Amino acid sequence: MTHHDQTIVGFALWHLQLPVNARRDHGIGSVEHVVDIVVLRLTAEDGTHGFGEASPWVVFTGSAEATFAALDRYLRPLVMGRAIGDHAAIMADAQYAVAHCTKAKAALDTALYDMRARIAGVPVWALLGGRFRGRIPLSCSIADPDFEKDLQLMARLREDGVRIIKLKTGFKGHAFDILRLERLCTDFPEFDIRVDYNQGLHPDVALACLRDVAGFKPTFMEQPVKAHLHDVMARIRASIDVPLLADESIFGPEDMARATRIADGVSVKIMKTGGLARAQTVARMAAAQGLSAYGGDMFEAGLAHLAGTHMIAATPEITLGCEFYQATYFLTEDILATPFPVVNGHVIVPNEPGLGVEINTEALNRYAVSVSP
Ligand code: MG
Repeated sequence: MTHHDQTIVGFALWHLQLPVNARRDHGIGSVEHVVDIVVLRLTAEDGTHGFGEASPWVVFTGSAEATFAALDRYLRPLVMGRAIGDHAAIMADAQYAVAHCTKAKAALDTALYDMRARIAGVPVWALLGGRFRGRIPLSCSIADPDFEKDLQLMARLREDGVRIIKLKTGFKGHAFDILRLERLCTDFPEFDIRVDYNQGLHPDVALACLRDVAGFKPTFMEQPVKAHLHDVMARIRASIDVPLLADESIFGPEDMARATRIADGVSVKIMKTGGLARAQTVARMAAAQGLSAYGGDMFEAGLAHLAGTHMIAATPEITLGCEFYQATYFLTEDILATPFPVVNGHVIVPNEPGLGVEINTEALNRYAVSVSP
């Protein structure tokens, strides 16, 4: 029996609630106390495991409960007993087995890559076209409604060598956004500052607010208005010189036909595309149209960060860095057995087989609110 002929004999799920150390406010909602994630563990005939994480956010991609059900009830039958070499066929079936639920499909795709790469003895990036980069500049989000706490975080980031931040705006009024921008630009001039509204502006005031913010010359301004307001995005893009990034307005390759009309760049997330290869497709379609691509994330643990890290390592078109900060700066405890690899403001791409870091299964059981073995 070759590696590829091995069948998948195990499909275990954990819905976790992981404690966090701060509050995070965004234009469409807040996160406080815990983040909900779903972890999938596949098992091959020889006992090799592959892990994947779904990182839902209820106001962005849907709920953890729906994600758990999508995997448990609708995707499990597509996977059990299939050959691991049929990865693309499994994902093609998954695409239409349940509508939406992109983060459930991202977890499945990640677990298949992790398992195949472990069996082959190579890192996941080797299955995604090979390595383009071995380290990725890290951005951390500034999103605490208590700005004094974020100033303490800024001091820690500077000490750690981080040089990119994304200021979350549009949740507590324009004056608060301008006050924070002024303070950050004055006290932390060495930082590359980006701004993300997470759909928080009403179209009536969006242009006036963004003109003020553009005066601070951020590297980009992200998703100022609701996801479906494509014409408003297009008008903003035509009126302001600072690059406009689309996040909630672009999920997968199917959305890219509108990309050049509404934005100068795209936030690429495996939780939106429903998988690693589909994320690479979005980045390549963006680059082919002259758009930039950024490595975004959701409220993730280190397992999802790793999947995104291997994807970006093998995707030259993602040039604006990544925001895999939660495992290091937001979670009270991660689910990885060793820390998510961040050194001097950069994520370090693992070279070990699979995703390259082991899972702390004791933490999975400790933080589980539901389990399906
Ligand atoms: Mg965003």
